[in-house]
Amino acid sequence: MGNELKGNGGLPLLFGVMGDPISQTKSPAMHSAALEAAGLAGTYVPLHVKPERLGDAIKGITALGYRGVNVTVPHKVDVMKYVDVIDEAAKQIGAVNTIVNEDGVLTGYNTDGIGYIRSLKEEAVADLSGKHVLVIGCGGAARGIVYALLQEKPGSVVVANRTIGKAQELADEWSHLGDISACKMEELANLLQESHIDIVINTTSVGMYPRTGELPIPAELLAPHMVVSDLIYNPLKTELLLRAESIGCRIHNGLGMFVYQGAYAFEYWTGRPAPVEAMRAAVLSSLQA
Ligand code: NAP
Repeated sequence: MGNELKGNGGLPLLFGVMGDPISQTKSPAMHSAALEAAGLAGTYVPLHVKPERLGDAIKGITALGYRGVNVTVPHKVDVMKYVDVIDEAAKQIGAVNTIVNEDGVLTGYNTDGIGYIRSLKEEAVADLSGKHVLVIGCGGAARGIVYALLQEKPGSVVVANRTIGKAQELADEWSHLGDISACKMEELANLLQESHIDIVINTTSVGMYPRTGELPIPAELLAPHMVVSDLIYNPLKTELLLRAESIGCRIHNGLGMFVYQGAYAFEYWTGRPAPVEAMRAAVLSSLQA
């Protein structure tokens, strides 16, 4: 594919992100930088869409000739009703964050989980096979991550959640995909003493700005051999990561997940490798703005 990739009627390509609220999004800065670095003429805009107008907004993608959109909170589940085709992984995860418009046919993908795993592998643990992983939290983001993680053939995945029923349901639903079990938060101390855990991933919002002093698990449960990862990227080093780093753990934050979920979306829309470093630099500078 050459640089001639164009939007409808030979116009620049159109992209956007639908959410409510949406003014805080860093996606336009990141994707504008990606388009420029790739030498593509295009625009990526924030689209404020109320839940009751989501169906109309999705019809607008084809009517207006958008090549693709991202979908964020609170639309990732409801949007599945309005697309024509849903990718198998997105179906299993139960959420769509990326839509591709291929000649009027809208296909929904989930790039959050695979984006996180690509980031974890490139930035912290190159090979996840055989690794024993503890996932704290069991919300929407955790579903994407655990699904993508299970494709990497880890040794085991334990999901701990405040509401244990949700973690147990997830473990039951995906037991055919690998060694996955649920753990109560109160039983974490025993688990970490009795079993070897290589990677701890915080998928809860505990520690996110503005409540930056909070920890999702007691820091005493961490050990220096662990890789400790947090989906949060504001702040870039959460209290959990600061405490982990202070005892010698390798740490990994949520910036890469955000960048790589966008990189996969860019690649689905354009068929070209995403200019990841330009995207990362744009997000970092918009975080500092
Ligand atoms: P969500 O669906 O609302 O799930 C939140 C999870 O956090 C649930 O497991 C919830 O437990 C747990 N939780 C919330 N407050 C808690 C507390 N005070 N104590 C213990 N557990 C608590 O949210 P989500 O969409 O999965 O997002 C989770 C986090 O991931 C957020 O910080 C978000 O910013 C981050 N994220 C980052 C990226 C990225 O690109 N880096 C992408 C998506 C999300 P219960 O089930 O018991 O309520």
